Amino acid sequence: MVMGDLVREVDVAVVGGGPGGYSAAFRCAELGLEAVVVDAGKRLGGACLYEGCIPSKALLHVAAVMHEVERAREFGLDYGEPRLSVDALQKWKAERVVGKLARGLAGVARSKGVDVIGGRAVFEDSRGLRVEGEEPQKIRFKHAIVATGSMPATLPGIASARDRVMDSTAALELVDVPERLLVIGGGYIGLELGTVYAALGSQVTLVEMTDGLLPGVDRDLVQPLARRVEKLFAAVHLSAKVTALRESGAGVEVEIEGHGARSFDRVLVAVGRRPQSAGLGLEATRVRVDERACVVIDERCRTSDPHLYAVGDVTGEPLLAHRAMRQGKVVAEVIAGRPAAFDNVVVPAVVFTDPEVAWCGLTENEAQRAGRPVKVAKFPWAASGRAATLGRSDGLTKLVVDPGSGRVLGAAVVGPGAGELIAEGALAVETAALAEDVAATIHAHPTLSESWMEAAETLLRGA
Ligand code: FAD
Repeated sequence: MVMGDLVREVDVAVVGGGPGGYSAAFRCAELGLEAVVVDAGKRLGGACLYEGCIPSKALLHVAAVMHEVERAREFGLDYGEPRLSVDALQKWKAERVVGKLARGLAGVARSKGVDVIGGRAVFEDSRGLRVEGEEPQKIRFKHAIVATGSMPATLPGIASARDRVMDSTAALELVDVPERLLVIGGGYIGLELGTVYAALGSQVTLVEMTDGLLPGVDRDLVQPLARRVEKLFAAVHLSAKVTALRESGAGVEVEIEGHGARSFDRVLVAVGRRPQSAGLGLEATRVRVDERACVVIDERCRTSDPHLYAVGDVTGEPLLAHRAMRQGKVVAEVIAGRPAAFDNVVVPAVVFTDPEVAWCGLTENEAQRAGRPVKVAKFPWAASGRAATLGRSDGLTKLVVDPGSGRVLGAAVVGPGAGELIAEGALAVETAALAEDVAATIHAHPTLSESWMEAAETLLRGA
């Protein structure tokens, strides 16, 4: 018998070891189902741990520390000029952050009896798959969960990742700190990574095709970030397009519509991500994939094949780790016969820049576009005691409320710590809290979280 002839029988085969896949496998194990994870890298964590959320936030933390130290001069504290060791930073990120979390996940898998098989999974039919690569074998399953995530999108006809033209994965490796960096894309990944490189000393130029940063997000939330980015970056070109890009020896020659030809040392292409549904053998199953390559699922994460389920980025927007994790838990319960569904009202979104921007539920923009009448309460941080003590009065907290019932439909915040603050907004929307509940809840003073109460009070005063 050769290795590839080995056939393993399991209750649940999970394809992909990212947050969607490992959450599903862990919950399956807790519910008494035998689950294995097949992952191309033979590891748990996926894009989130190795090339997304975690390494980017580790580097953003370093950028934030540098910014704080710089700002401290305002109140008479001067540590002198920072000196950065890229090697030490790399090591800290790889070992103390990513490595530590990876070891933690491997330990949880062991303790729950979830095996991780290394290799690429290809479905042969609706009940079986083969693993190609590191640990070749066949797996027969009662159920399978597709959790293969997404990959960086490329600029059509222009750039794919090469030495000096990076995608987000390559940028996070932080091989060096280029003197001149061009970031293509003003979405959250371009802004987060642009912030990191600018803090580390690169002159960052950002090009965004639409007329504003973070397309789709309420403009009053984006404004404080746009002001900061204008200062931090060397240039921000909106309504501009990169039309040609050529690597030439030591640099990259770029043609920016309306701004002429420019040279950069490196280019980061951050123009979105696309689902990873190709090459998986899904055509041998009854799974339906839509025109954007997303696996089509219902609210119980079921595909059109009764034996196959899917969770996470491969199922389309929003491409966020916490949504993948929640789907992972739901799908395990569905497979175990429990009455679960992905019926969450909100999936909070956070941009971890400085200031941070976060929102959940109905946004003011969406309400306007839908012609839905809402009341909007805003509390500018200029009136917040805590913001004043932090020297950060540039924030804003906002509630979107149903005018009839007073129910909180949406919440948004911009300012340092917005990513933590949005949790209260998410809880309010998810639990159908009224603006009155938020106003009547005692919030500790002085905190930034008081701004929720203040915003709600504004609304009640106006009622
Ligand atoms: P993934 O994490 O993509 O995992 C999929 C896994 O499947 C991978 O390990 C892959 O190797 C494996 N795989 C694929 N095909 C096969 C196959 N055929 N066989 C075997 N294995 C396979 N989200 C947030 O919520 N917050 C953030 O702050 C955030 N920051 C981000 C920053 C960056 C720079 C990037 C790129 C992404 C960020 N994200 C963030 C998005 C987040 O990383 C994804 O939403 C999340 O990882 C999706 O999880 P997933 O389980 O669907 O798939």
